[in-house]
Amino acid sequence: MDYTLEEKEAFMREALKEAEIALEHDEIPIGCVIVKDGKIIGRGHNAREELQRAVMHAEIMAIENANLSEESWRLLDCTLFVTIEPCVMCSGAIGLARIPNVVYGAKNQKFGAAGSLYDILTDERLNHRVDVETGILESECAGIMQDFFRNRRKK
Ligand SMILES: [Zn+2]
Repeated sequence: MDYTLEEKEAFMREALKEAEIALEHDEIPIGCVIVKDGKIIGRGHNAREELQRAVMHAEIMAIENANLSEESWRLLDCTLFVTIEPCVMCSGAIGLARIPNVVYGAKNQKFGAAGSLYDILTDERLNHRVDVETGILESECAGIMQDFFRNRRKK
């Protein structure tokens, strides 16, 4: 992955825009974009409430979106940007889609499977290993989550 820090932050800002769409539907604000050759080929946000689909996490929607636009299940040479560390399911899906690079904003100590609870993306026993980078726009990515949960407790 050879994007500059500025480029990575710009893509993460696009992922944050997706998180805001989730927020508009009053659901956990996580967003994702998939980038190939500097171009966004897939976008997604958490849509569990909006679509009433248990598995419709931001990464899953973005992978489906990118599969359609690439007309391929393989997302080689792509980088997935997601605001929060992927869960077990999404880390599995990233491997299945053969995505080689993942950049995420903030860790998820409760559900994260890319370093926190598990380390699925870099587990040497699995045949697909992913380059993982963290901490891009970390405070913005964590902040939108903290605001969401704070507001929800108030209700
Ligand atoms: Zn997930």
